[in-house]
Amino acid sequence: MYQIGCKIDEVRVDGDLQAVKKDLQTFKEWGFPVVEIPVHGLDVVVNGKISDSKMQQVVDLLSEFSFQYSVHAPNPINLMDQTDPEIHYQVLDSTLQFARNIQSKVVVYHAGRYIAEEWFPYSNPNQLNDDLMFQMLQQEITYIRKLAANYPDVMICIENARPYNVYSPYCYGENMDTLLNLLETINRSNVKMTLDIGHLFMAASFFGYDPIEAINKAKPYIYHIHIHDNFGKSILYTEKQQTHLLPFGKGDMHLPVGFGSIPFAAFLPVLIRDYQQFIIMEIRSRYFQDIKESRKNLFSIIEETMKEKVL
Ligand SMILES: [Zn+2]
Repeated sequence: MYQIGCKIDEVRVDGDLQAVKKDLQTFKEWGFPVVEIPVHGLDVVVNGKISDSKMQQVVDLLSEFSFQYSVHAPNPINLMDQTDPEIHYQVLDSTLQFARNIQSKVVVYHAGRYIAEEWFPYSNPNQLNDDLMFQMLQQEITYIRKLAANYPDVMICIENARPYNVYSPYCYGENMDTLLNLLETINRSNVKMTLDIGHLFMAASFFGYDPIEAINKAKPYIYHIHIHDNFGKSILYTEKQQTHLLPFGKGDMHLPVGFGSIPFAAFLPVLIRDYQQFIIMEIRSRYFQDIKESRKNLFSIIEETMKEKVL
C-alpha cells in the first residue's frame, strides 16, 4: 500500500530549523506518516560538503518524530552542467550522504538539463548541436552510475520536468520516452523515477502526448510520486510571481489537489494500482493551510475511482 505525505517547503523554512520543527509538528497533528525533506532548506550542504554540526542538529530534530522520510536534492543540481560539473556531483553526493544519515531510502533528483533555467537568457537549447547534447547525456549517465554504486542503499529517483515556452525541450525529462531511455541505459536497480503528475500534465499538454500512455510506459520505473495541481498552461521562465499567474491559471502552480484541472480520476487508477511507495503532495508554500483539503480531495478521488478506502 502506498503512503501519502507532504513536503517541508525550502522557501518557507529557509534554513531555520525551528521553522522546520514547527511544520513537522503540524504534519504530525494532521496525521501524515511521510515527510519529504529538502536538503537545500536546511543549510546542511555548504559548498558541496555536509556541515557536520548542522547535520547533527537535523538528525536530532528528525529523530524527535516518527515519520518516514524521503529527500529532495537541491533543484539547481545539474549533472549535465558544462561549467563546473564536479560541484554538481559533490552536492548530489552530499545529498545522498544526508539521506543515509536520516535513514531515508529515496532521493529525488531533477533530470539534468541541456540548458539550465538560469542560463536561458544566454543560450537557447534549440541551438545546441546533437554531439554536445549526446555528450551531456553521457556525463549524466556516468555520474549517476557512480553515485548509484556508492549508495546502493538509496534509490535515486530522477524526476520528470515541466516545459517552458520558447526554451523547451531544455531537459530530457520533459519527454517520457527520453527519460525512460536514459533510465534503461543507466540500467541500475537503484536508479528509478519520480513521476511528478503536475509536470507530466503540463508536458503532455505542451508537446501533445497522451499522459495516460506515458504513465503506463513509465510504470515499471516509477518508485516515487509527486502530486499537485495546475491547469496545464506552460509559461516563460521569467514569469515567477504567483499572484500574477493565478488569475490566468498559468504555470507550474503546485496547487492543492482539486484546485486545478488535472484529471486525477483518469490518472490515479492507472498510476497507483499496485503502487507500494510514497505519494508526496508537493504543494506551494502559499497554500500551506490548504494541505488538509488537498489530502481530502485526493482521498475522495481515490475512493471514488478505485473503490478502495484510504487509511
Ligand atoms: Zn516534483
